[in-house]
Amino acid sequence: MTIVQRLRAFEQRTRPVDPDAAQALQRRWDSLPERNQVPGQMLGRKTTGCEATHGVFPKCNFACKPCYHSADANKVRVDGPHTLEHVERQMKYLASQRGWGTYAQLIGGEVSLLEPGDHAAAIATMRSHGRIPMSFTHGDFDYDYLRAIAVDEAGEPRFPHLSFAAHFDTTMVGRSGIKKPKSEQELHHYRGRFCEMFERLEAEHGITHYLAHNMTVTPANLDDVADIVQSCHAQGWRMFSFQPAAYIGNESRWADGYRELTSDIVWGEVERGAGTTLGYQAMQVGDTRCNRVTWGAYLGDRYVPLLDDDEPLDHQMVASWYDAFPGNFILRERGESAARLLRCVAEKPAIVPEIARWAHRLAKRGGGVRQPWWQATATTFVMHQFIDAADTAAGWEHIQAGTRATNERVLEAQERLEACAYTMGHPDRDQLIPACVQHGILDPLENRELATLLPLPTSKRSN
Ligand code: SF4
Repeated sequence: MTIVQRLRAFEQRTRPVDPDAAQALQRRWDSLPERNQVPGQMLGRKTTGCEATHGVFPKCNFACKPCYHSADANKVRVDGPHTLEHVERQMKYLASQRGWGTYAQLIGGEVSLLEPGDHAAAIATMRSHGRIPMSFTHGDFDYDYLRAIAVDEAGEPRFPHLSFAAHFDTTMVGRSGIKKPKSEQELHHYRGRFCEMFERLEAEHGITHYLAHNMTVTPANLDDVADIVQSCHAQGWRMFSFQPAAYIGNESRWADGYRELTSDIVWGEVERGAGTTLGYQAMQVGDTRCNRVTWGAYLGDRYVPLLDDDEPLDHQMVASWYDAFPGNFILRERGESAARLLRCVAEKPAIVPEIARWAHRLAKRGGGVRQPWWQATATTFVMHQFIDAADTAAGWEHIQAGTRATNERVLEAQERLEACAYTMGHPDRDQLIPACVQHGILDPLENRELATLLPLPTSKRSN
């Protein structure tokens, strides 16, 4: 490659937004329902949404109630070559539809049932397609397993950074040492131990981490939400994500009362734990009936949200930020992100004083500039509420038929699916599928077929 060609390639790679990502963002924006085309909307402006794998390792060795997997999931053997083949195909397809640099979940089943080498290869495959992978786990594995994913045979790190989301709550049955926890408090020790493994990995091998704590919220553990936030926020979690239970997945594991768990009730408990109001409208992801997200930081035990829903200037700052930084800056070659940022600022220099004014407002909210801001720990609160499978089926039918639901519940499902922020790639159908549709409609058939393709071993020792 000549110097001129190299310079041209660098110029293209450091544009504020890649042309294919810009097109994908525009398509996402155009396909949003009008009610979600609001100034704070991230979909179609900053991101096309999160992505996830499906049908790659459906089996799990826990027995949670509820569980969003279909009843046949545990009849499918965990198979490394199958996993890697389908992760590759799905990620390639997602990259072709949505461009480079999105967050994607490596999710099944239980990811730690994969051999560590296969788990590492799946992460590498996702990264090679411009995905930032996050492995979804029940967290019941030891340091040796984690190290074997992260470090190769020569003791060299395979990755500079790892992201894991670990699910810990009393709806889960099967954790080593505490098969059936009686209270959320009993699990705090296990939550902390999980974080410590990653700290050790960083200390020994320099591999940094991002850890998300997931919790299914039911009427039985709703009152524990606030305590989990208060007791565990300093353990090392960078995100607390709450999923109010929904009637989706394995019917034999459903219980009564899920519909009483409205978003407001659950979010109110998260706010009680954070000790402050958690705004989610200045910057929103998809439909707020599906997702509520608050970005912020802990200063000691005090949580300070980055944005204030009641402050019009914060809304304005978000709009300016989307405008000034339209692309993403993740998973780039060294120096590319910095060059991108500089070009963005050069094109919209007014963003600099606007960010400074916002930082001043933030500092004021957090108690002033004299606070120890250098010790702040970035923490995000999320609530993701799946749609009941029956409503998903009816709403999805309308979307496929190009019609509009008239029933209130079904219309809500339809609108939420249209604004979905969590998508699976189906290269065979050439379709992007909302996770609610995947788990509520497609998983049962997919897992039945996989059970034939990948039957469980007949010997006593199985994975
Ligand atoms: S997966 Fe379902 S609940 Fe989640 S964002 Fe998509 S439509 Fe909403």
